Amino acid sequence: TRRTEYAERKVESVCPFCGVGCQTELSVKEGKIIQVEGRKGPANRGKLCIKGRFGYDYVLSPERLTRPLIRREDAPKDARARLSFDRLHEVFREATWQEALEKASGGLKTIIDRDGGGALAGFGSAKGTNEEAYLFQKLVRQGFGTNNVDHCTRLCHASSVAALMEGVGSGAVSAPFTDAEKSDCIIIIGARPEQNHPVAATYFKQAAKNGATLIVMDPRRQRLMRHATHGVVFEPGRDVALLNAMIHTIIEEGLTDEQYIQAHTSGFEALKEKVKGFTPEEMAPICGVAADEIRTIARAFARAERGIIFWGMGISQHVHGTDNSRCLIALALITGHVGRPGTGLHPLRGQNNVQGASDAGLIPMFYPDYKSVENPELIARYEDAWGRPLDHARGLTVVEIMHAIHDGEIKGMYVQGENPAMSDPDQHHARAALASLEHLVVQDIFFTETAWHADVILPASSQAEKLGTYTNSNRQVQLGRPVLDPPGEARQDWELIVAIANGLGCNWTYADVPDVYAEMAALMPSLANISWERIAREGAVTYPAPAPDAPGKEVIFETGFPTDDGRARIVPTDLVPPDELPDAEFPLVLTTGRMLEHWHTGAMTRTSHALNAQEPEPVVSMHPRDIGRMGFTRGQQVTVETRRGDITLTLRADRDVTEGMLFIPFCFREAPANFLTNPSLDPFGKIPEFKFAAARIRAAD
Ligand code: SF4
Repeated sequence: TRRTEYAERKVESVCPFCGVGCQTELSVKEGKIIQVEGRKGPANRGKLCIKGRFGYDYVLSPERLTRPLIRREDAPKDARARLSFDRLHEVFREATWQEALEKASGGLKTIIDRDGGGALAGFGSAKGTNEEAYLFQKLVRQGFGTNNVDHCTRLCHASSVAALMEGVGSGAVSAPFTDAEKSDCIIIIGARPEQNHPVAATYFKQAAKNGATLIVMDPRRQRLMRHATHGVVFEPGRDVALLNAMIHTIIEEGLTDEQYIQAHTSGFEALKEKVKGFTPEEMAPICGVAADEIRTIARAFARAERGIIFWGMGISQHVHGTDNSRCLIALALITGHVGRPGTGLHPLRGQNNVQGASDAGLIPMFYPDYKSVENPELIARYEDAWGRPLDHARGLTVVEIMHAIHDGEIKGMYVQGENPAMSDPDQHHARAALASLEHLVVQDIFFTETAWHADVILPASSQAEKLGTYTNSNRQVQLGRPVLDPPGEARQDWELIVAIANGLGCNWTYADVPDVYAEMAALMPSLANISWERIAREGAVTYPAPAPDAPGKEVIFETGFPTDDGRARIVPTDLVPPDELPDAEFPLVLTTGRMLEHWHTGAMTRTSHALNAQEPEPVVSMHPRDIGRMGFTRGQQVTVETRRGDITLTLRADRDVTEGMLFIPFCFREAPANFLTNPSLDPFGKIPEFKFAAARIRAAD
């Protein structure tokens, strides 16, 4: 019997996990979610993956934070201390809301009064709603008086956004992933959609089944390659060599769309000159793909009537992440595969609202809608809207903030729903930074690794307990509805941000969430014609929407680009090696990523019994031949080490991992992969090189 038949009520909402944005229906009985089913949303058409269908039990975890907490006077902030939920009360004492909020905003105000707002920083959340993201960035800009506000987009697609803004004048996708069904040739590179965007992957597989050419390119093998026309495994960190060789082939063989290039782009001649030296024959030994294969996939994409490119963090998380994206943009532009159904550029977004949080201005260089914080006209507009002088310089990014803490420039932080003590690279450095803060306010639903370092912890609401809008990877703005009340004394995130702002003298008087949305939408041209009522009525509205009663535009750039001259800019790239190459001391390549069952730092999925039962322990994956050659046995405990630290975990044999490589998921608090990762940044997107570090492995002591 279906459990939904016993439900007391059913609530329509959206999935709290990835950027696909599946619509859900949650069945509730006796204050518990008893089943989640997929609705026929534009992104999922009734489908859900394991996380969306079974991962909801994190909401009722006994480890949820239910009361405000204040750090005990004598509790150490030792960065090396190990986190344990059971030890929470040794370090923190329960407090009233009044005491906690006064201490939270009081500590921030002390720093502002003494050192200025530039001594503070805030991390908002891509798991929160658009309204929370808008309020959070406004609080940092208006209440703190700084642009030091960022979120996890810095760690996933910041380099993609940098390249897209530079190239096509917009950081969002040009077509939805469902357009794969209309495409003749689909490139998926540096992404593992079956693990990280499982419902989107169903469209790619179906397109291949219907006859489209599917080209899957990645340094690790993956199951999606079984459905692909071409599964291309290339050397890690050598994306530019492969992509420039494809561009070289297309230009050399006269497969470019000259009409499109002339009408809609600039910079083609410089690209043509640059890629002359990137012949497939010369690049083959560098990228590890045979010259013939490079030519074959380049021809397939260029000759297609409609070609589309999807990419993930395998492209973006490199010191040359922006260059990688520039190559993909050039590939689409020179073949005219932009601005028509079944064509385009689509960075697959990671968290459920990373698109919306970025759109809402939760980034240090942009106000909402990617308007520069250094543009005097815009500064004046926002100073008018928010009633105070604003910071005129772009703020610090995620990793830069950690450095600034060590340098004594940042002294206090407010972190809402992010977990930098797991997600930042080089964790010894990041955790030491958090531990050294004079004042840290953490607002979360769990006692995260970051909360361990907090002075005040504000218990907040899970996605199942809040009302608000979310924007998925397809630019579809959707409504999440509350299913349950927050546990204990936990409060709504938006109300807590308002309380902190008012503690700093902002005098905000929002009546409710739609009131916040109305202010945000009035400042964001992208949300024109998309009222709260319309989203509630239609369930999902794609931006931009040309009129209140017209459907949103799924495909953009049909007639030009939102750049100064209306043209897309082609930017040639050079070959930049990974920051830290393997050597005799550290001979292996370590790469990190997610798993189907676990999402990001694991705060939610590790507390879901349904998901954690599938993947309960930290593992390092290695090719079976490497395991044999190095004298290990699968299942044994091993220690993986880089120049930044070591962790001990279980060895797993995995033929997807190529020889000479190690793969570690970054979601396990018992063995945080980011103790090992390289904090070197892409100079444009400021994203760390999570995908490549020199490493070694030995049997655990
Ligand atoms: Fe949720 Fe993403 Fe899975 Fe859809 S594909 S159910 S949005 S995790």
